[in-house]
Amino acid sequence: MISAADNRQQISRWLAELGIDSEVIAHRTLPFFSEADEKMLVTAETNGEGKAFRLLPAAAAAWWQMQHQARVDGIELYLVSAWRSVAYQMALIAEQQQQGIAPEIFFTYLAPPGCSEHHTGCAVDINTPECDEVSGVFGDTPAFRWLRQHAAGFGFVMSFAENNPWGFIYEPWHWCWHAPKS
Ligand SMILES: [Zn+2]
Repeated sequence: MISAADNRQQISRWLAELGIDSEVIAHRTLPFFSEADEKMLVTAETNGEGKAFRLLPAAAAAWWQMQHQARVDGIELYLVSAWRSVAYQMALIAEQQQQGIAPEIFFTYLAPPGCSEHHTGCAVDINTPECDEVSGVFGDTPAFRWLRQHAAGFGFVMSFAENNPWGFIYEPWHWCWHAPKS
């Protein structure tokens, strides 16, 4: 049985590998997400550059259904991120460090290793063609309004609302599929 204390220690070790003192997140109540078994993942979508976005099969099926219904309603949705390994999350963090950004700052928009919902293979970052990936405001798009209305019907929940208790910024593009409760 892996305890919460074990998880915290594991996160601290990963942070230490990045040269980050875990004190930086000590005041945060961050959830721990286990990395999905890579062998279980399926390709949910491939982008124009050939990058594959992988999810657990049930989450991928829900994504496809939701994307299809959106298209029927005149809304285009596409993936910009899906499953991430802990190693990949650490590489994203290292990029932020190389840009000279402080962990106190980047950990408000990028989860520490082990704390990203993307590890589960059920979380997606979504965009729509009318929203520029760098400068666009996804929360202002008709695609976002469509998701607010319809995503729950496909099992997707917006994880990080404004002023969420985990100290992450408002992320209207980040949704996570939750298996229906039986
Ligand atoms: Zn995300």
